[in-house]
Amino acid sequence: MSDTIHRDPDCLFCRIIEGDIPSQKVYEDELCYAFRDINPQAPTHILVVPKTHIPSCAAVTAENAGLVGHIFTVIVRIARAEGLEEGGYRVVSNAGPNAGQTVPHLHFHILGGERLSDRMS
Ligand code: AMP
Ligand code: ZN
Repeated sequence: MSDTIHRDPDCLFCRIIEGDIPSQKVYEDELCYAFRDINPQAPTHILVVPKTHIPSCAAVTAENAGLVGHIFTVIVRIARAEGLEEGGYRVVSNAGPNAGQTVPHLHFHILGGERLSDRMS
């Protein structure tokens, strides 16, 4: 797992991680940062991002797969802490224009707190 953090000064989420733009922090460690989505799509809507700039889940490689695995353990921990485990939750990562990705920094949405739509698209 690489311990080098790459930041893009023009990237919204890099600036949030840096603290230049305020956010409602949920969790942080040396590799990732989690915060509440500014426009929640469910009662609980949290974004989990790597601290290093990776453009999307389409840029996951053997080199950064360990980091992505770590992020998934954090997702599970956050979901438990937020009381989502029993009812269940959805984890989403959009890649590219057809998926409607608006911020080009890898992020995982955690959505829960109510019965989510059966339709995922
Ligand atoms: P995506 O559409 O998958 O790229 O998701 C980007 C998400 O970032 C959207 O759900 C936005 O509501 C969220 N977002 C944009 N700006 C902020 C911000 N300043 N703080 C928290 N969430 C944000
Ligand atoms: Zn970034």
